[in-house]
Amino acid sequence: MGFSTDAIHAGQIPDPTTGAVITPIYQTSTYAQEALGKNKGYSYGRTHNLTRAALEENIAVLEKGKFGVAFSSGLAATHALMMLLKAGDNVIATNNLYGGTYRLFELNMKNFGIDFSWVDTSELKNIEEAIKPNTKMVFIETPTNPLLSLTDLVGAAKICRKNNLISVVDNTFMSPYFQNPLSFGCDIVLHSQTKYINGHSDVIGGILVTNEEKIHSKLRYVQNAFGSIPSPFDCWLVLRSTKTLAVRMERHDYNARQFANYLEKSAIAQKVYYPGLVNHPQHELARKQMRGFGGMISADFGTFTKAQKILNGVKIFTLGESLGGVESLISHPATMTHASILKEEREKMGITDSLVRFSIGIEDIEDLLEDIKNALK
Ligand SMILES: *Cc1c(COP(=O)(O)O)cnc(C)c1O
Repeated sequence: MGFSTDAIHAGQIPDPTTGAVITPIYQTSTYAQEALGKNKGYSYGRTHNLTRAALEENIAVLEKGKFGVAFSSGLAATHALMMLLKAGDNVIATNNLYGGTYRLFELNMKNFGIDFSWVDTSELKNIEEAIKPNTKMVFIETPTNPLLSLTDLVGAAKICRKNNLISVVDNTFMSPYFQNPLSFGCDIVLHSQTKYINGHSDVIGGILVTNEEKIHSKLRYVQNAFGSIPSPFDCWLVLRSTKTLAVRMERHDYNARQFANYLEKSAIAQKVYYPGLVNHPQHELARKQMRGFGGMISADFGTFTKAQKILNGVKIFTLGESLGGVESLISHPATMTHASILKEEREKMGITDSLVRFSIGIEDIEDLLEDIKNALK
């Protein structure tokens, strides 16, 4: 099936009681049992919920996976992943990944005896060199936030297979529409559904997808035992959103290409980070493993004053955290998403005070371009 057909139909069987075409919101905490030891396969809302199951199947199919396990947020999904490990284990993770992931790993999971090696995974040899006898997992984010650097997923998956490590890819920036890490041999895909998958800035949610039965059964256990489940209503909203994921992603991508080209050609930015630009250092890899370049762009405007002028001057872009919604957002990584990283380290990575991050929405591109021109006047 094509992506949009799957998005609209996978996991969406008409309700057997009424024939309702849209999966109902099963807003119930418990289920009537027919007799002692006899039920319809549903016992308690944390363990079983049909709205959630419909969403899990839908996203699993879109990610070319067999099993989806949904959580109350992207970070709850990341935390659930950590439950596959035990004290004494080591994880190799992409440096400059999502700030909340860094905080969970470095400031919290470390206290439970899990050790993290932060490496630039865009160079595969860095992953290989970081492997220790106790390494169990490699956690990759590609493209990264906010500098849009890529990791070769075929290469990374190979290294992980060879060394018997669980490979995890945070695919939030691409959505299942533009990139499917499981097809490259990776073990688990993670999404913050809060971003492109839901795309309407009205739900916090996360999901893990895998083809491995053993990993799935552990994650299913964790979902129930730790209990960070999404509400039936949130699952329903996300299901409503995946139906338009393809058309939204096409438009995010179309707008972002034009916006990045404008920033580069007009020379108002000193440096533009967007995998769709021919001079992005990994443009060829982007063409190989992604079917589009997405809607995220970062640009260095040279001075903080100029960056500030743009951040405060735009009217259609909303100044705010988050990304992937239909409305365009603008943010300042140095003081917002990446404020917890020491200035020196930040600047070394390229996250300067003059760096601005754009989440390009699906408005009319002419208006978005006009907005930035006006901000600079
Ligand atoms: C937002 C985000 C997360 C965390 O997801 P929440 O739904 O906010 O918990 C993880 N990874 C990436 C790349 C993100 O953008």
